[in-house]
Amino acid sequence: MNLDDRVEKMIENYLQYGRPSEVARIRSAYAFALEAHRDQFRADGEPYITHPLAVAEIVIDIQLDADSVIAALLHDTVEDTPVTYDDIKEKFGEAVADIVDGMTKLERIPYSSKAEQEVENLRKMLLAMSKDIRVILIKLADRLHNIRTLDAKPEAKRREIALETMDVYSPIAHRLGITKIKWELEDRALKYLDPIGYDEIVSALESTSGTREDMIGSIKACLSARFEELGLKNIYIEGRVKHIYSIYRKMFMQNKTIDEVYDLYAVRVIVDTKEECYNILGIIHDMYKPIPGRFKDYISTPKPNLYQSLHTTLIGRMGIPFEVQI
Ligand code: MN
Repeated sequence: MNLDDRVEKMIENYLQYGRPSEVARIRSAYAFALEAHRDQFRADGEPYITHPLAVAEIVIDIQLDADSVIAALLHDTVEDTPVTYDDIKEKFGEAVADIVDGMTKLERIPYSSKAEQEVENLRKMLLAMSKDIRVILIKLADRLHNIRTLDAKPEAKRREIALETMDVYSPIAHRLGITKIKWELEDRALKYLDPIGYDEIVSALESTSGTREDMIGSIKACLSARFEELGLKNIYIEGRVKHIYSIYRKMFMQNKTIDEVYDLYAVRVIVDTKEECYNILGIIHDMYKPIPGRFKDYISTPKPNLYQSLHTTLIGRMGIPFEVQI
C-alpha cells in the first residue's frame, strides 16, 4: 500500500472510535513528520516516515486518543531531526510535546545488565519516569514496529533488541494488560533468541492447523447453542490458539511435549457478573468432562496484575484437551 493510502486507512481506523474534529490535527502531524524525516531512511531502505506511520497505526489499533496518535507520528522528530520541543508545543500543544519529550528520554536509558534485579529496577524506572502513561504505551508500539522490522539490522543488534524486548517491554505490556502487543513482542523476540525452538513449534502447529480452527469453531458453536437453549443472554465467546512463546515456555522450561500443553486451545467466555461466571462453569462442567486438578479460581484469588477469571480444562472431541476461561 502506498503512503497516501495508508494515511487514509489510518484516519478511517481512527474514526472507528475517535473524534472527527481531531482529524485535521492528525493530518497536519503526519505532514509535519513527513517533512522533518524527508531525507532519512530506515535500515530496510524504506523512507523513515514509514516507521512513525506504523507506530501511529498500532496506537490506533489499541484505540488511544488523538494526542497519542499525533505524538506517535512525531515521536522520533526531536531525537533524529532539527525539530525541537518548542516547535511541537507551538504547533500541537504542550501535552503532545511532553509525550514526545518523555519518549526521547526513554530512548536514552541504557539497557546493559542481564541481572534480574536490575531489569526489575529498569521496569520500575520506566513506569515511574513517565508521568503520562501514554509515553509507555507509544513506546510499546514503537518497540513492536522495530521488532517487526528487525531482519534489516545486523545479527548482534537483533539479539540485543530481542533480549531487551523479552526482559523489559513484554513484562510492561503484561502489567498494563495489553495482551495483544505482549504476545506479538514475545513471539517475535523468541524467533531471534531461539530460532530452532521457534520453528519446531511453528511446524507442529502448522501440521494441525486445519484441525485446530475446526476444533475451536465447534466448541464455540456447542457452547453458544447450549447457552441459547438455557435462555442465557449477553454472553460473548471467543477462541484462540495459545501464542508461540507461551507454548515454548511450557515445552522447554517444564519439559513437556506439545501434546501435554493443555491450554493450546482456549475458549474465553465473557459474561456480565461474577455469579454468571460460576453458573457458566457449572454448565460447561456438565457438557464436557473436566480434568481434575486443572480448575483455577482467579476470581477469589486474582493474579498479581489483578486479572480475574475462572479457568478449567476439559476433554474435547477426540480426547483433545482445551481450556475455558470464564
Ligand atoms: Mn521510533
